[in-house]
Amino acid sequence: SQAITRLPWHDRLAAVLFLDIDRFKLINDTLGHGTADLMLKAVGERLVECVRDGDTVARLGGDEFTVLLIDVAAMEDISAVAQKILDSIAQPYELDGQQFYITTSIGICVYPPDGTDAATLLKNADSAMYAAKDREGNNYQFYSEDMGTQSSGRLAMENALHHALERGEFMLYYQPLMDFTSGNMAGVEVLLRWNRDGEIVSPAEFIPLAEETGLIVPIGEWVLRTACTQNKAWQDQGFPPMRVAVNLSGRQLQLPHLKDTIAGILQETGLQPCYLELELTESMMQSLQATGTLRALKELGVRLAIDDFGTGYSSLSHLQRYPLHKLKIDQSFMRNLPADQNNVAIVTAIVAMAQSLNLKVTAEGVETAEQLAFLRTLACDELQGYLFSRPLPLAELTKLLKNIPASSP
Ligand code: C2E
Ligand code: MG
Ligand code: MG
Repeated sequence: SQAITRLPWHDRLAAVLFLDIDRFKLINDTLGHGTADLMLKAVGERLVECVRDGDTVARLGGDEFTVLLIDVAAMEDISAVAQKILDSIAQPYELDGQQFYITTSIGICVYPPDGTDAATLLKNADSAMYAAKDREGNNYQFYSEDMGTQSSGRLAMENALHHALERGEFMLYYQPLMDFTSGNMAGVEVLLRWNRDGEIVSPAEFIPLAEETGLIVPIGEWVLRTACTQNKAWQDQGFPPMRVAVNLSGRQLQLPHLKDTIAGILQETGLQPCYLELELTESMMQSLQATGTLRALKELGVRLAIDDFGTGYSSLSHLQRYPLHKLKIDQSFMRNLPADQNNVAIVTAIVAMAQSLNLKVTAEGVETAEQLAFLRTLACDELQGYLFSRPLPLAELTKLLKNIPASSP
């Protein structure tokens, strides 16, 4: 605002640069917060070196920085600074005796053409930053009007997501996990859905946003509580006990009190721990902190599964070190089985490895009889996919349970 009031000496421009470090969450998750903080400090120092005296560098929060350039003669000068910043940030960082590389995405909004008040300028710079992210980061984008509509969609979703929990807009779908040998239902995986004004939104659309904003923590707790309550209710209705599998987010695994939360939910709902399975992904197990949390969860008696196995980076030694029960082979490897020789080799190898490590295996995304016939030759433990059932709303799953018996773990 001060810059705007001081700038009316014509023909001069000011620019707001909005920066967000690319994939900073991954840096936080893998290096830990201490090292990540050091990196943020180094970024701040480099930014200061890229601008002139009188310009402003600020950290607005998290991994977001804002730069204000004042008294600029031409647009080219702004591009030059943005490029200088990209190059400077991309230089290696020496931390704890190791070298790290990061990149940043920059959104640029120019005064006066792109906005005449501080709030608009910041908002538009933010939109432009998302446009830079969409181009895979490590670039800068000037604001243009059509970006406004896209980000208002994003902002609107963020606002709506804030209220969704208290308004009861979330619901769970249930997808059967079929026991390979008996053909019974070994359990169900709960999959989150958001009923946004009558439209069912898929988790792929809102979970990343919920993770970014931290909303995944209360939402995830709601999922756990609802899943455990429902599983106990089925048992009370006389169905044979089975497992309920819940997807955890990396954010949840970092919570220091996760074990207590889950223990509390189990006690409150009366569900025995052996009927709860937690699904984690490979990337979530990279941090040392995760090891402790997983051990604590194992002590609780719940089961642990690795989801989407084969798509992340697993140190194979982790598979032994962690107290795991199960691998779920990612559905991408089911494509064109058994015609696709690569997928045949991968799936065969994963099943053999899991068996020798004493882990159960689930094949995800089984859609065709051909896939099933192939998987029979390998003897997976469990199968999941559209061939048996899509994820179903509660009433339909309960109906299914009456036809396909559940089998205890
Ligand atoms: P996921 O845990 O790997 O879940 C399996 C996904 O594959 C589900 O998509 C399911 O509908 C889909 N699927 C199942 N069988 C088939 C099949 O035969 N063919 C195909 N093409 N797809 C199949 P959905 O429900 O859209 O969930 C997507 C992802 O969202 C999940 O992947 C999981 O990572 C995440 N998610 C879902 N619910 C939650 C939740 O409550 N918390 C967290 N943190 N993440 C969740
Ligand atoms: Mg899953
Ligand atoms: Mg999966």
